[in-house]
Amino acid sequence: MGGDGAAPIRASEALRKKLAKIGLQREADLLVHLPLRYEDETCITPVARAAGGRPVQVEVVVHGNEVQYRPRRQLIVRAADASGEITLRFFSFYPSQQAALSAGSRVRAFGEVRGGFFGAEMVHPRFRKVGDDEPLPTELTPIYPSTAGVANSALHKLIARALESADLADTLPDELRQQLKLPGLARSLRFLHTPPPGTDLDTLHARHHPAWRRVKFDEVLAQQLSLRRAWLARREQGAPVLVARDDLGARLLDRLPFGLTGAQLRAMAEIARDLGQPYPMQRLLQGDVGAGKTIVAALAACQAISAGWQAAFMAPTEILAEQHYLKLAAWLEPLGVKVAWLSGSLKGKARREQLAAAAADAQLIVGTHALIQEGVDFARLGLAIVDEQHRFGVAQRLALRKKGSNPHQLMMSATPIPRTLAMSYYADLDVTVLDELPPGRTPIKTRLIADSRRDELVGFVKKHVEEGRQAYWVCPLIEESEALQLQTAQETYATLLAEFSGLTVGLVHGRLKADEKQAVMAAFAAGEIDVLVATTVIEVGVDVPNASLMVIEHAERFGLSQLHQLRGRVGRGAHESSCVLIYAGPLGEVARQRLKIIYEHTDGFEIARRDLQLRGPGEFVGSRQSGVPLLRYADLEADADLVEMARGVAENMLTAHPELAERHLQRWLGSREELLKS
Ligand code: ADP
Ligand code: MG
Repeated sequence: MGGDGAAPIRASEALRKKLAKIGLQREADLLVHLPLRYEDETCITPVARAAGGRPVQVEVVVHGNEVQYRPRRQLIVRAADASGEITLRFFSFYPSQQAALSAGSRVRAFGEVRGGFFGAEMVHPRFRKVGDDEPLPTELTPIYPSTAGVANSALHKLIARALESADLADTLPDELRQQLKLPGLARSLRFLHTPPPGTDLDTLHARHHPAWRRVKFDEVLAQQLSLRRAWLARREQGAPVLVARDDLGARLLDRLPFGLTGAQLRAMAEIARDLGQPYPMQRLLQGDVGAGKTIVAALAACQAISAGWQAAFMAPTEILAEQHYLKLAAWLEPLGVKVAWLSGSLKGKARREQLAAAAADAQLIVGTHALIQEGVDFARLGLAIVDEQHRFGVAQRLALRKKGSNPHQLMMSATPIPRTLAMSYYADLDVTVLDELPPGRTPIKTRLIADSRRDELVGFVKKHVEEGRQAYWVCPLIEESEALQLQTAQETYATLLAEFSGLTVGLVHGRLKADEKQAVMAAFAAGEIDVLVATTVIEVGVDVPNASLMVIEHAERFGLSQLHQLRGRVGRGAHESSCVLIYAGPLGEVARQRLKIIYEHTDGFEIARRDLQLRGPGEFVGSRQSGVPLLRYADLEADADLVEMARGVAENMLTAHPELAERHLQRWLGSREELLKS
C-alpha cells in the first residue's frame, strides 16, 4: 500500500494494546473499521418537543443533582432549557461525571426522551459539558464498535486522521467498478465515516446505501480471494497421478443391478479427471440422502486401485462404516480387490492382521476414526474418501490426508448447503452436486400426528409389516443426558415389544458394543427384524431398502437436517414409503416452523435453505474453518448476490491483476486472514 497503510496506528502504547483487541493494529485497519450507527448531533431539540421515540440532542442548564439509594443507587440530575424541565438519570457514574453535572453547568445530552410521571427524562444519555454559544457539529456523529476504555470520540479522531493520510486507492479498476455498478472506494469510506448532514439515517442504518454495498462487496471479494488463493496454492503441491491401468471400474459397473444416473456419471467424470492430475483433488460430493454417493466413491476407489495405489474410506460411525465395508467388499472382492477393515472395536490379532494389510497389500481400507490413529500406516495411499464429512472435524479430515503423501481427497456430504453458503464455506474446495435421485423412487409421504393419537399408529405399523415391509421407530432425542437417552430407548423398546406382540422388534443404540450393534443391523438388513427401535445412531447413511416406514417420536426436538436425514432412511426401495412425525404440544414457534418445513418439503436443498433462514449461517454449518469469520459487514443470506459477483471477480483478479488482489487482501484482511488458517 502507499507507504503508511501498513504502519502501526499512531497512538500511545496503552491505547494500541486496547485497539489490538478489536483487530485494529495498522492505520489501514482504521479505514475499514466502520460505524455501527450514527447519531444526529447537528441540531438541538427543545425539551418540550423531545419525547417521541427517536434519540435527540437537548441543550440544558443543570439546576442540581443528588444521589438516591432507593430503589437502587442512581444519580438524578435536574435540568431545563427555555421550553421545559428534564431529568437525567444515571445508574453508574464516576465522581468526575457527577462534578461535571453540578448546578449551573450547561450540557448537551443525547438520548431518547421519555415522558414519565415526573416529566421528561433521559436515562444514561451521552453528554458533554459545553460553553455558551458552542457551535454545533455539522456532520452526523458515527458511533464505532469499540472496547472498554476506548471512547468513541478517541476512535473517531484516530479514524479521521487516518482518512486524511492513508492510501485509499481503489483496488477495483474503473471499468470493472462501473460494470458492477459500485461507487468508488475512497468516496464510499469517506461517506460512511462522515456522512454529510441531511443523509437519511434510516437508509444508513439499514445499510442499503450504495456506499455500504461497496464495502460489503469488497469484504466478500477479500474472502473469495483468500479462499481462491488457498485453492491455487494446493495446485502447487504434487500428488500421485491416478490413471486406471485396467478395467476394474467397468467390471464393477457390469456387476451392479442398476445403471448410473446422469448426475452420477457427471460426478464420476469430474472425479476421474481430477484423479489423473498431478496435484491433489479436494472435491466435495454433495447429494441429498439416497442420491447414490457410495457407488461414485467406489468407482473413484477403483480408479486409484487400478492405478496401483490404495484408497481409504472413512465413515463417522461404526454402523455406517461397517455397512460400507460389507457393501464394498461384496462389490469388489469378487473382482479380486483386497479390502481391509479397521474400527475402534477391532482388537488383538484381528486388528494386527488388518493393520498389516493396510501397510502392505490391502487395496481398499474401510473404517471409522480408527483409520487416522497413530500406528496405522498405509503402504501407498493415493485417495482418501471421507463420508458424511460434516461429522468430522477439520483436524480429522486432514489427518487422513497426512496418512499418505498428499493423496487426493473426496469428501461426501448429505447435508446440502445452500449455494452461497457453500461458496463461502467451501470456496477452497471443488464441489460436485448429485442433483438427481435414482429412478423408481416413490416419494415419501410425511404425516404429522399429535402425541395423543400415538395409539392409532400401532395398527398402522402392523399393517405395514403384514405387507412384508419393515419399519424404524426412532426414540425421543434427549440432548442433555446420554443416560436418560438410553433409558428412554429401553422404555420405548419395552412398550413396543408389548404393543407389537407377534412382530419381531429389535433395539439399537449408541451404548451397545460394536459387535452387538452389528448383529442387530445385520438382522434388520436381512429382514429378520420387523421393527427396529433406534436412537439417532441410525441417522446417517444406513441403507436398508425394504424398510419403508419411519416413525419419529418427539419430532419437535430434532433439528431440520436430522429430521431430513432420518426420513431419508426410507424411500430407498420401490415401495411406497412414509414418515410419521409424532409431536408433543405445545409447540414453540421455531419447532412449529421446523415441522411445517419438513412436512411441506422433501428436497434437501430447499429444506437447507429454509433452515438457514431459520437459524442463520453461524449455527448452520458449525464452526468449520471457513471464510465466514472474515465477514463483518456482509450477510451471506441478505447479500447473496454479492457473493456470486465476487466469486467471478476473484478468479479473474488473481490471474489478471495479482498485485491488485494482494493489495485488496491486505486492506480488508490484514492479520484477520490468519483466522482462516486456525
Ligand atoms: P447416499 O447418497 O445417501 O449415500 P447411497 O449411496 O447409500 O446414497 O445409495 C442409496 C441407495 O440407492 C443404495 O441402495 C444404492 O445401492 C442405490 N443406488 C445408487 N445409485 C443408484 C442408481 N443409479 N439406480 C438405482 N439405485 C441406486
Ligand atoms: Mg451415504
